[in-house]
Amino acid sequence: MTGIVVVGSINADLNLRVERHPGPGETLIGADGSVTPGGKGANQAVAARRLGAEVRMVGAVGDDAHAGAALSLLKECGVGVGTVSTSPGTPTGLAVVTVDEHGENTIVVVPGANTTVDAAAVGAHAALLEDADIVVLQGEIPRSGIEAAARLCGGRVILNPAPVLELDAEVLHRADPLVVNEHEAGLVLGLLAPGKDVPEDAGDMLQALRRAGIGSLVLTLGGEGALVLPAGATEVVPVPASPVAAVDTTGAGDAFIGALAAHLLKSDDLVEAARFAARVGAFAVRSEGAQPSYPYMTDDLPGPVE
Ligand code: ATP
Repeated sequence: MTGIVVVGSINADLNLRVERHPGPGETLIGADGSVTPGGKGANQAVAARRLGAEVRMVGAVGDDAHAGAALSLLKECGVGVGTVSTSPGTPTGLAVVTVDEHGENTIVVVPGANTTVDAAAVGAHAALLEDADIVVLQGEIPRSGIEAAARLCGGRVILNPAPVLELDAEVLHRADPLVVNEHEAGLVLGLLAPGKDVPEDAGDMLQALRRAGIGSLVLTLGGEGALVLPAGATEVVPVPASPVAAVDTTGAGDAFIGALAAHLLKSDDLVEAARFAARVGAFAVRSEGAQPSYPYMTDDLPGPVE
């Protein structure tokens, strides 16, 4: 087996700071202008790799100047990028992130080369996916690419449908676990059980998703931690967040998922994996950015809360 394969998005984030957001037709002077690596797929791959897992990335970048920045931390930490293709004439996925002085952001995402990661592109890596212990999937590549990867995976599928796409029920049922926040949980329930009321209580939401055919579930709740419903268990298990002073929550969910995958590579215990992932998510909110804020194995993680 070949460890973790992340099939997903790779972006360059163009970060701008402004006093206030511009109105239509208005030009403002901003600051920063840094280009940093992002994309949910790449974030999750870096998080898992920094924690010691063997990780390969299947995705695509363009043949433009942003490709180098988008791949920089994947390469630096040793994620296998030989399976990342370059799409000629297509821009690298780009997110323009504008943050005002109150910390409010607006984000415009241009998916670019990520749109080429379809069933055919994913199918080219069939042998790798069949051999993977864990395949990690998000929602930032075409539906056909996600579905192909889930079907080809010979091991465990960790599915984080963010954003939520209209995936085949068979693919959603393949998730072990499905990792969602409250908003995504409601949307997935709408796909699997259209017309049914979406419960307000987060625990009830997990039970409703279970009844809709999802065997194993993790619901992340930001600073409130997470809820876990492992395969075969009937009770929802709360996982508290580690108390930390949050500086920037960007990419905390991706840190959580990368850590969950890295832990599940070593042990099948989903609750233990989520406890570890919550500590990694808390570590990530203590400093700015997504990938740069993720811990290495040697870092001290914030303490677990009993
Ligand atoms: P995003 O897509 O913005 O990265 P998300 O909604 O997918 O986020 P969150 O629920 O915000 O994911 O965060 C994932 C996990 O990180 C949480 O379950 C929690 O364990 C940890 N975490 C997030 N925010 C905080 C915080 N303020 N303090 C402590 N832990 C946090």
